[in-house]
Amino acid sequence: MEQLRIGVLAVQGNFREHAAVLRRLGAEAIEVRLPEQLEGLDGLIVPGGESTAMTRLMHLYGLDEALQRFEQPIFGTCAGMILLDRDHLAIADISTKRNAFGRQVASFETDLDIGHGEEPLRAVFIRAPWIEDAGEGVEVLAEVDGHPVLAREGRILVAAFHPELTDDTRIHELFLNQVREATSVRA
Ligand code: GLN
Repeated sequence: MEQLRIGVLAVQGNFREHAAVLRRLGAEAIEVRLPEQLEGLDGLIVPGGESTAMTRLMHLYGLDEALQRFEQPIFGTCAGMILLDRDHLAIADISTKRNAFGRQVASFETDLDIGHGEEPLRAVFIRAPWIEDAGEGVEVLAEVDGHPVLAREGRILVAAFHPELTDDTRIHELFLNQVREATSVRA
C-alpha cells in the first residue's frame, strides 16, 4: 500500500507529538507552516495548543483560507477542534465550548467508552473544550458526562482530548482509515 502523506499544522502546539504517532503508524508526516505545503497531502491534523494564538498565526500566513479550500480529511484535536468549529474556520458543523470542564478539573484523564465492543480508550484532557452543539451530519463517537468529545462528520474527525499523548494509537488509526477511504474514492 502506498504511504499516506499527512500534514500536521505546525504553527503552534502539539504538532511534533502528532507527527511522531503518524510515523509510528507508517505514514509520512509533513509539518505545514505555509499554504503551499498543503498541496499533495492526503489528510491534515490540526493539533491542540492555544486556539487564540493559532487563529492569529494562521491568519498571518493565509492558512485559514487555505484550510477552508483543503478538500481532504482533517482531524482536529483540542484547540484544533475549536478551530474547525462554526465560529472559527466553519469546516465542521459543530459549536464548541472552550475550557468547558472548568478550572477545578482543568486537566484530567479518563477512560472513554468508544463503543463497538472496543476496549475503553484512555484519554488525556488539558483545558479541553467539548462539543456544545452538533449538526445532523455529525456522528458522536464518545462523550464525557453527556458532552460529546469525539465526533465524525464525513471527512472531518474531531477530538476534545489529546490522542497524541498516550500510547494508544487507535484514534490516529481511525483517522488514517478515513483518509484511506477518501483516497480510494479519489482513485
Ligand atoms: N484551552 C485551549 C484553547 O482554548 C485548548 C487546550 C488544548 O488544546 N490543550 O485554545
